[in-house]
Amino acid sequence: MGEGDSKMSRAVGIDLGTTLSSVAQVHEAGEPVVLPNAEGELRTPSIVFFGPENVLVGQDALREALVNPERAVFNVKRSMGDSKFHFAVDGENYTPESVSALILRKITQDAARHVGPIERAVITVPAYFDDARRKATEDAGAIAGLQVIDIINEPTAAALAYGFSGRGQDGVFIVYDLGGGTFDVTVIEKRGHELITLATDGDVQLGGKDWDERLVNELARRFCAEFKVDPRQDRSALAYLNLTAEEAKKALSRRQSTRVPVSYKGHWGNYEVTREEFESLTADLLAMTQLTTDLVLEEAGVTWSGVQRVVPTGGSTRMPAVMKLLEQMSGRPVELSVPVDDAVAMGAAIHAAIIEFHSQDRLTEYSAEVAAKLGRIHTSDVAAHALGLIIKDHQTLEYRNDVIIGKNSRLPASIAKNYQTAVDGQQSIVMQIVQGDAPHPEACITLGQFRVTGLPAGRPAGAPVKVTFSYDAKGRVHITALDVQTGQTMTTEMARSGGLDAQTVTDEARRLSLKSVE
Ligand code: AMP
Repeated sequence: MGEGDSKMSRAVGIDLGTTLSSVAQVHEAGEPVVLPNAEGELRTPSIVFFGPENVLVGQDALREALVNPERAVFNVKRSMGDSKFHFAVDGENYTPESVSALILRKITQDAARHVGPIERAVITVPAYFDDARRKATEDAGAIAGLQVIDIINEPTAAALAYGFSGRGQDGVFIVYDLGGGTFDVTVIEKRGHELITLATDGDVQLGGKDWDERLVNELARRFCAEFKVDPRQDRSALAYLNLTAEEAKKALSRRQSTRVPVSYKGHWGNYEVTREEFESLTADLLAMTQLTTDLVLEEAGVTWSGVQRVVPTGGSTRMPAVMKLLEQMSGRPVELSVPVDDAVAMGAAIHAAIIEFHSQDRLTEYSAEVAAKLGRIHTSDVAAHALGLIIKDHQTLEYRNDVIIGKNSRLPASIAKNYQTAVDGQQSIVMQIVQGDAPHPEACITLGQFRVTGLPAGRPAGAPVKVTFSYDAKGRVHITALDVQTGQTMTTEMARSGGLDAQTVTDEARRLSLKSVE
């Protein structure tokens, strides 16, 4: 080990959550452990507060946000990959990537106090994240100064934690992941040391926040009825109301009823909410998760009788209604051997250890037994979205999505197609690339414009160009083109409809490195 390496810590796994984030690492004995932050907590609220002097992340940011909500960013994960999102404060602009980078800075710098400087990380993403959101997550890591050795789907990570624990039996199981802001269901088959994802689907806009919102609206409705003023009209009062509603929601996971105080403009309300009321206010949200679960099972070609276990992950699965639904649907007890909050970070840490095991001579850090275990595990994932391009239909003359790689294809996936130039002397080809399997272009996620340039001049129309569309193992899209006549790889360019370019990532990393993050 070189001098510079001596203090370098093993790669970590990071669960970059909508509401909470955490860092884990596989220790020498082979067990994944979640590393506490400077406040002594295993999870850090994913909240960034831009103070005049420094940036606060986590619990302190949450406290400050109550007083100055306009200086705080919540739920930035929901905006990942959205090029329109900018948070402006003190004359500076922050993209979702930069805000996420600040969260990553805080949690890795805190974890480093326990394990030494952290340089390499696996970061988890919801399975349903499209290419732009995956890229944004990788860029956030780079801006935070991390080498992102991989991104991995949250349910796959949870499955790894479950499978690695030795308690996971062979067979088909479902990871039902209901977090703060996203929902995923994944069907996974465990065969010995192999974890094979069969199908995945989800909703990037559904999570615990929506349950909170229902309670916020109900409390505001009662408050309005009593005092004729709406606390939702004031940002600070709304921030408090959100917090109290979340607390009340959690209390209702433990108790049949709870009392919730609401104050605004000198009025004080105190409302009793029962679990039954809360469950009826949110029944449609739960029903949406049931629909998605049934759909994913169908896509996987599995029926409930073939499902061995349901593994819940994400804080929102603590709601008794969720557990009830899972038991009802599966007809068996829910698997609780892996902690719902830690499974994703722990699985990411295991994935990081496996990558390190395969890539470098770091295995000396682990006992022979642990190294052997790491070496045996294999995971394979599927594409959460179809990959296609927009073409003009010959018959209808309308534009439609021509799916090249189907949804739920095993990753990595690669399909080559031959195209021809349309006119004499054509030197470039332009394609509109989309994700999703809807036939209508507007119903798909636009990835961007793929351009092939530099085709030799003077060729007649009909010159063949072979385009290879690929998903890599982490679900990122790659497209290459080959001039069939010369066998040469063509110059190509992907003009993304959003996202940061390489230079901006470097510049942002430099800009943010000058900020102190606490
Ligand atoms: P995650 O994104 O997995 O960290 O999940 C965070 C979400 O879980 C938030 O919406 C929390 O309000 C929710 N949550 C955490 N604990 C509980 C609980 N005991 N009952 C209901 N929801 C909870």
